[in-house]
Amino acid sequence: MGPGQEYNVRMEIKKGIGVSPGVAICQAVVLDAEEFRIPERRIKPERVGDEIGRLERALTRSREELVELRDHTADRLGAETAAIFDFHLGLINDESLLKEVKQVIGKSDVTAEFAVSSILMNYAKGFLEMPQYLAERVKDVYDIKNRILRHLIGQSRESLTHIDEDAILLAHDLTPSQTANLDRKHIRGIGTDAGGQTSHTAIVAKALGIPAVMGLNDVTALVSPGDTVIIDGNRGVVIIDPDEAQIEQHRQYEQRLVEFEQVLDGLRDLPAVTLDGHEVTLLGNIEFPHEASTLISKGGQGVGLYRTEFLYLGSETEPTEEDHYKAYCEVIEIMEGRPVCIRTLDLGADKYTQARSPVPERNPFLGCRSIRFCFRHLQLFKTQLRAMLRASLKGDVSIMFPLITTLMELRQAKMIMRDVMEDLEEEGISVRTDVPVGMMVEVPSAALQCNQFAEEVDFFSIGTNDLIQYTLAVDRANERVAPLFTAGHPAVLRLIKEVIRAGQRHDVGVSLCGEMGGQPEYALLLLGMGLRTFSVAPPVIPELKKLIRSVTIEHARQVARRAITFDSDTQILSYLRDQVRQVLPEAY
Ligand code: PEP
Ligand code: MG
Repeated sequence: MGPGQEYNVRMEIKKGIGVSPGVAICQAVVLDAEEFRIPERRIKPERVGDEIGRLERALTRSREELVELRDHTADRLGAETAAIFDFHLGLINDESLLKEVKQVIGKSDVTAEFAVSSILMNYAKGFLEMPQYLAERVKDVYDIKNRILRHLIGQSRESLTHIDEDAILLAHDLTPSQTANLDRKHIRGIGTDAGGQTSHTAIVAKALGIPAVMGLNDVTALVSPGDTVIIDGNRGVVIIDPDEAQIEQHRQYEQRLVEFEQVLDGLRDLPAVTLDGHEVTLLGNIEFPHEASTLISKGGQGVGLYRTEFLYLGSETEPTEEDHYKAYCEVIEIMEGRPVCIRTLDLGADKYTQARSPVPERNPFLGCRSIRFCFRHLQLFKTQLRAMLRASLKGDVSIMFPLITTLMELRQAKMIMRDVMEDLEEEGISVRTDVPVGMMVEVPSAALQCNQFAEEVDFFSIGTNDLIQYTLAVDRANERVAPLFTAGHPAVLRLIKEVIRAGQRHDVGVSLCGEMGGQPEYALLLLGMGLRTFSVAPPVIPELKKLIRSVTIEHARQVARRAITFDSDTQILSYLRDQVRQVLPEAY
């Protein structure tokens, strides 16, 4: 649905990637990242005192850390090695330097982050002009700068969890766990420099219903705390400092979106059936147990993907078997007999483990992620499987393994599951021995071998977020290559088609749980390719249902036949958009 009006060209408008729908109009809070250039950002003059207070706290924390490091190093490696920290301490206690930082904050009304960063960068430059042995000191100056910045930015991050006024959060980047832990009551919208359509941060923002735009490149450099900002998650736009007319226009647009949503919600109890009587199953993807209620309120017929690794995001400690069990039972109970497909842990890549790992991987999406991580951490995997198998008695549960790339991996995962089952039985704990077991098809090797895999699983779930990433060699979370991340690439479509066909041939259920399935253009194509089960973010279900109820399968088949004759993703997408516009004009 379009706004029907053009943006005011005088406005500072940033185009990014809309990853979570909705409109938010609010004051901004801005979060820097210590590892990137800190932009010159102004603060209100009355906030200078607070800013200097923040600086003092960050300095105190940094000093404490340095003293601890120095003493610890002296114990282990001797006083000579530890002397390097005396230099750091000398710098951080240098009165004239600190006076300069405070003066810059006070006179230029800039953030403490900017003052620290710019003054210490200048200081470092001074060293570079000195003889070689002194120029080496530059690294120590950078080290000190980053230490102070880390504490300053850490303070802002902490205060975001108990913010007391409505705000739009702008940040260079956020991890999924930072997003999940945001104060949902007050964070009305999110905008980030980095990130892409299917990054897990985007998925969390969508799950929490927070309008979000990512891949904005430099939005954090353009906005000062307290500036008014509009986030338009539907069209991937951020407007900085809008005037009254712009605000009014977006309020009306927001109102129309809400009304459209209310109309769609009216479909909740109607079946997802095409005009020529073909039934389609609409399931939901969830990350947190509380989403199960939203899923039902949106008319979802079950959980097609429960991303259990999100249990790890909210807490510092590892979940126990009981934590897992309780979360699964909560979902199963809310679903009241509807199917619940629980995926085993997909830790790694952009989720959880990198942030906490002592040595982050160089290439985490191709690294020790997901099922590979579970094989390496067998106890953690078995703990989860025990909880899943116990919970399976409570409802219509199925279990699914992620990132399977070889048959051996699938067999190994199943074998571990059987071992766990035997352990439970030996302990006298009853379990269901016939729980359906499936796998994600999200790596090209699995899609290409789908006929062999079909002999050994009960169902497939096509994970297009990863399937696209690995087929097209495009990092799903990297804004620089975001335009190359496209579901419409003929190679991706061919793989999907093969998997749907293999499912039909071997009588193995096939669903699709990537973000692609929630986009009306691709949903129409997938219907035509024979897909009958979609698992999507719960808020998307009503629109998908409307589309399904507005087409015949015969028409969808024709569309699919024609679409795959094109040889580029842009041709395919524009053809599909045209087709959807004819059946569902409200979608645009
Ligand atoms: C996918 O890869 O498409 C998928 C659904 O799994 P995730 O987004 O959690 O990687
Ligand atoms: Mg995946």
